[in-house]
Amino acid sequence: MPDDNINSWEGRADARSFYGFTDLPTIHERGAVIVTHGEGPYIIDVHGNRYLDANSGLWNMVAGFDHPGLTEAAKAQYDRFPGYHAFFGRMSDQTVMLSEKLVEVSPFAEGKVFYTNSGSEANDTMVKMLWFLWAAEGQPQRRKILTRKNAYHGVTAVSASMTGKPYNSVFGLPLDGFLHLTCPHYWREGRDGETEAEFTARLGRELEEVIAREGAETIAGFFAEPVMGAGGVIPPSEGYFQTIAPILKKHGIPLISDEVITGFGRTGETWGCETYDFMPDAIISSKNLTAGFFPMGAVILGPELSDRLQAASEAIEEFPHGFTASGHPVGCAIALKAIDVIMNEGLAENVRALTPKFEAELARLAEHPHIGEWRGKGLMGALEAVADKPTKTPFDGSLSVSERIANACTDQGLICRPLGQSIVLCPPFIMTEAQMDEMFGKLEAALDKVF
Ligand code: PLP
Repeated sequence: MPDDNINSWEGRADARSFYGFTDLPTIHERGAVIVTHGEGPYIIDVHGNRYLDANSGLWNMVAGFDHPGLTEAAKAQYDRFPGYHAFFGRMSDQTVMLSEKLVEVSPFAEGKVFYTNSGSEANDTMVKMLWFLWAAEGQPQRRKILTRKNAYHGVTAVSASMTGKPYNSVFGLPLDGFLHLTCPHYWREGRDGETEAEFTARLGRELEEVIAREGAETIAGFFAEPVMGAGGVIPPSEGYFQTIAPILKKHGIPLISDEVITGFGRTGETWGCETYDFMPDAIISSKNLTAGFFPMGAVILGPELSDRLQAASEAIEEFPHGFTASGHPVGCAIALKAIDVIMNEGLAENVRALTPKFEAELARLAEHPHIGEWRGKGLMGALEAVADKPTKTPFDGSLSVSERIANACTDQGLICRPLGQSIVLCPPFIMTEAQMDEMFGKLEAALDKVF
């Protein structure tokens, strides 16, 4: 803690606020960074220190922290109509327009949208939709949900059960019926002598075996992030989705693409499923949907699930689900503007333009004797630290090595995310080449300081 005075911002934060997902030894030692405002990709703290945010907030502030078009869209809609739900037979005009836009930019020819306040709630909602429609179709036993180890789908009881992280055991999760298959991370999970193609084929066989063991008639759906984000930026092994999608289709199991991070351009195409060339049955969206300027999530159903959910709802004359702020008009107005900004103001193009440099710099830093692997797709990337490179042995110790690297970055005015043994970078889409040089320069200096 830089200043023990309980009247300091850091002391006041510690006294009255709980920190979620925060390494408490780091907080006790350093205090939190208390942020007052942002400029482009930078945040500024109460002491006037500037930090380049290589996290884009939490993967989401892709247009920077002060995009004038987005704040204008918010102000205009607050002036016009500040808030309303999207049920009981009413819905704002902004919600109508956003749903049309989302189906238009989705990979689906037809479809429908349902709104939530977060990505977790969108996944939760999708699971309830599946349970509801299977039950309405006479298969109430189809309740099991398949995901992968190391996946991240959120923090509500259901989405945390879908998340394949060991820390959820402290809550007694996952709930029954949530099954986690092997993470498609060839570098870590591949066996000695196994090629990447053989690894992918093995994961396909595993999926077939799980379906045979559990019975397809008990499985409601399969959820996957095109690139695992909070798992440590893990792109799928080669041919992964081409292997699993036909197996799921054969057994009538819907494939849901959780695009909370990958949606709206992060991996180079509008959707991660386009980057990896597979067609899901539904898409989960959040984060970039509003460029982080409003808490909002959306379930975008493709034509088949859309028709089935409609029929199930007609049968009991409603879909009994919704949040007070579902389809909030200010959120919808911001989302309409955010989609326009990302797709028409050169942001998506900038992701594609910067990707080669981003990858080259990651590859260069991965030559370090304590970096075992670099991974990435588009503008999401990670460097994984190892104690011993040839054997891929991780570091141990109470303050993880990635935490120490991230702290050394913070000292120099760079925010990046420690995730397990990895350092994750997901710069905003507005980043310039000069800012990218600053980002990698500071990260390299932090590596030199720690090792
Ligand atoms: N799904 C994915 C892939 C995510 O990365 C996240 C959050 O990082 C979520 C779901 C949960 O979203 P939220 O934090 O808005 O609940």
